[in-house]
Amino acid sequence: MQEEVISKTEADLIERLAIASRILSAEGHDDFNQGQVSARMPRQEHFFIKRAVAGFSEAVPADMVKAYYDTEKPSSLLSPPELPLHQAIYAARPDVNAIIHSHAPYSLIFGATDMPLKPISHDGAFFKDRIGRFDDTSQTILSIDIGNKVAAALGEQPGLFLQNHGVLVVGKSLREATILALILERACKLQIIAESTGHSYSVSNDTDVKGKQDYIYGDTSIKTYWDYCVRRLEQTGSINWNR
Ligand SMILES: [Zn+2]
Repeated sequence: MQEEVISKTEADLIERLAIASRILSAEGHDDFNQGQVSARMPRQEHFFIKRAVAGFSEAVPADMVKAYYDTEKPSSLLSPPELPLHQAIYAARPDVNAIIHSHAPYSLIFGATDMPLKPISHDGAFFKDRIGRFDDTSQTILSIDIGNKVAAALGEQPGLFLQNHGVLVVGKSLREATILALILERACKLQIIAESTGHSYSVSNDTDVKGKQDYIYGDTSIKTYWDYCVRRLEQTGSINWNR
């Protein structure tokens, strides 16, 4: 971890970043050590991000390094190569306080198709008409120019498929971004399975979709899902910071 003194609030955020990493790993977001999670306190210029090389499955609080969305400011040298992706989005979206980028397999496959995400399950309802595809490049996001293009494609949405690369999910809190990354992967998985049956299938109507977006994925519910995920990690002994 960085040498400078950090506040108790920031220390708590850093610990939650390690917990979010373990949750993402447990829910199928691993691709060796690739993918990142980052978060900031509201209205701050700096944020914390999982450092290069450390994977979701093994990340500990000490793996979270400090970075700035202003590319002129001194972000940690241990920052991951895709730091510009996070810098561009924090600069463009004052409402966003957490970002997850992973190569989760079902989201990746879904993003490579031209299918719209449909509200087959509760999960799909959240992202209906709220997720696009970025297809300018399928390469790793290594420059702020490409990062800015991704941020423009994301717009005001909570998620974006990075075609033939992975997926991006943002939230106003780390809890929200983490849970949304889980439900997006599940929504993609369920639709791919539904499509593979070769049969037609039903989807929720717009009234139900709106209700699900407000209730099933409202702030209070999101917090309970996060707490559930943490309890499940505790049950399996997966929250330990010894490597
Ligand atoms: Zn990537």
